[in-house]
Amino acid sequence: MENGNKGIVSAESGGDIAKEDISRRQFLAMAAAAPLALTPLTESLVSAQTAGPGAKAGKIKLASKVVLLPFDYQGVRLGSSRWQKQYESARNFYVNVSDDDILHGFRRAAGLAAPGAPLGGWARRDSSVVFGQWLQAMARTSRANDDSEMRKKATKLVDEWAKTLGADGNPRMRHYPWEKLLGGLSDMHQYAGHGGTPALMEKIVNWGIANLDRTRTPAANKPWELHSGVPLEWYTLSENLYRAYQLTGNAKYKEFGDVWRYEAYWNKFSDTSVPTNAHGVHAYSHCNSFSGAAMAYLIDGEAKLLGMMKNFYDFLQNSQCYATGGYGPAERYVINDGALGESLAIRLDSFECPCCTWAAFKLAKYLMMFTGESRYGDWIEKLLYNGIGAALPIVENGKHFYYANYHLGAGMKIYSRSNYTCCSGTYFQNMAEYQNLIYFKDTSAALYVNLYLPSEVTWQSPVVSTAGPIKLTQQTDYPEAEIINFKLEMAKPTMFSLNLRVPGWSQGVSFKLNGSALDVTTKPGSWATINRQWQSGDQLEMRIRLRFRRAPIDRWHPNRVAIVRGPVVYAQQVVHKHMVSIPPDDEALNEWMVATDESTVFRYAGQEQSSQRDDFMPFYQFAEMQTYRMYFDPAMRNVLW
Ligand SMILES: [Zn+2]
Repeated sequence: MENGNKGIVSAESGGDIAKEDISRRQFLAMAAAAPLALTPLTESLVSAQTAGPGAKAGKIKLASKVVLLPFDYQGVRLGSSRWQKQYESARNFYVNVSDDDILHGFRRAAGLAAPGAPLGGWARRDSSVVFGQWLQAMARTSRANDDSEMRKKATKLVDEWAKTLGADGNPRMRHYPWEKLLGGLSDMHQYAGHGGTPALMEKIVNWGIANLDRTRTPAANKPWELHSGVPLEWYTLSENLYRAYQLTGNAKYKEFGDVWRYEAYWNKFSDTSVPTNAHGVHAYSHCNSFSGAAMAYLIDGEAKLLGMMKNFYDFLQNSQCYATGGYGPAERYVINDGALGESLAIRLDSFECPCCTWAAFKLAKYLMMFTGESRYGDWIEKLLYNGIGAALPIVENGKHFYYANYHLGAGMKIYSRSNYTCCSGTYFQNMAEYQNLIYFKDTSAALYVNLYLPSEVTWQSPVVSTAGPIKLTQQTDYPEAEIINFKLEMAKPTMFSLNLRVPGWSQGVSFKLNGSALDVTTKPGSWATINRQWQSGDQLEMRIRLRFRRAPIDRWHPNRVAIVRGPVVYAQQVVHKHMVSIPPDDEALNEWMVATDESTVFRYAGQEQSSQRDDFMPFYQFAEMQTYRMYFDPAMRNVLW
């Protein structure tokens, strides 16, 4: 989120201590003084079709068609991988944060006994900044993994927090945390079976209707302090209100959601994906606002909203995104005139990694659901490996990753100087989403594989009911290896369509079924469809060729490039020496990169032998404070030799 640091360099990007303190004080003053809060609840919209045991189905009729459905945090398990370990590490961190510490500020403000201590950082006064997001992630992970310890913790947090709520429903939060809180409570009802949350939702919404400031000044690139609107990020409120409406059928939520629609920005994308006046505004929250457009589209069926979402998506891909899938230097969108490439030379705060990944996951998921197109999954994949999946883990007392640094000369991963910022809320939400982004299904007899990640899914086709559930197990070392193995298990032979995302960047995808080559259409940017009578024990092998590619930052800087292999950005390990010259085309690049004994490490040809290595490896493998070079430009003067 925007940290409230107005008109000065962001605290996270190297501002001094005083600035950081100013930033935090401003944030806390804004976040914790008056009311607010809400998060995303996208899946509730399709819950009438997907609700499994323990999940609440939606209560309204949706105006728009949903083509693909996520598994809604059920039926998918992660197998062993780097990203499964990341999830486990996060789960173990959050489940062990003291309940009393989380509740301390809420209890103190309510005049109740407040054992424990403040969490600190942005949660110094109370945990408003993360509370709703944590509830949401806890509800989702508890369902996805049948994690009773997590569910019990989240239930206790809701019950104890409810005691601090004012008689008038005043949660003592302003817009941003109020919106997240509503999302968290909705999820506790939908995914964790908390029966008391609908009443709590109604209380805080009644209070919000009466008390939340409705100034709603749209964000603007000038003056600088207007980049996230007034009140702060007000334009993100509609999504969770619409989700609450979908979940409960209470029209009050829909009406209040309508209040926060953001036509002033959405309309910039009504006819074009290259608007001239969409830059300079806060990157995360503006991407997040399109989740509100998504829910509005789902509920009301306004086709123009889907068109705006698509245009906005293309705007990001074509003018804002780095090779990693990240976006938003200094947390802003840039003018589409080469500014993104120039930003590499002057910014360290390249990408607000956890928050911006979260908004991107949601936008891409909504678009996949509404259109059925696989291309949106390409962005999810990029951000899984190079965005949130390359982040440092949350540790100790809430130390966490905030900005990814793609600076042209060199960079390193460092922890945020403030603990428990917005990014410690979205970090957990991203982890909760891993299981939900791998597989999709439609309303007939088709299963979709979006991500190639060790996992298993249990799926029951709604139209092939006699066959019983089908289990698909995925084993792979992708994206470090080219082969992905799928194994199918089912009670009896079953006719259905298995669809596998063929990445837009791919060149050469092939299949073998039970050891024999299978003729499948594999057009990059589409689904490879295998429609047949499957049998238990069937083994499907998918091979995605992993070639190195040059990824120019923008068309104004065709030689300012990152090196990408498959979906993964590779970076140079040691930046002590001068900047190497990257070969001029992909063919030459693949000759230049030479494999080593380590599967993920490549050494460039002709490298001078020395005591210091400067090989390339995936960006996600770099540890804290390990220097790397991600972007290269031969035009940069060699100032040392
Ligand atoms: Zn953040």
